[in-house]
Amino acid sequence: MTKITCSCGAVYLEKKHKLTMRDKDKKHCQLCGEVISSWNGAVMYTYELISRPENSNDLNLSAKSIVDKITKSN
Ligand SMILES: [Zn+2]
Repeated sequence: MTKITCSCGAVYLEKKHKLTMRDKDKKHCQLCGEVISSWNGAVMYTYELISRPENSNDLNLSAKSIVDKITKSN
């Protein structure tokens, strides 16, 4: 298995699947939408997001502050 790092910093674990038919497709980053892979052949790939970029911590912090507010209001 191969690790793919998007330009936004997201890291994906790449899994290759052999197909009996030809497949032409591409995969976009879940976070920024950039194309991280494309293929054309009797193969396809799936990608599992295993690491998010550092700056996505901002999202986690804002989600935590919302949880804090809910907890305090109760
Ligand atoms: Zn990305």
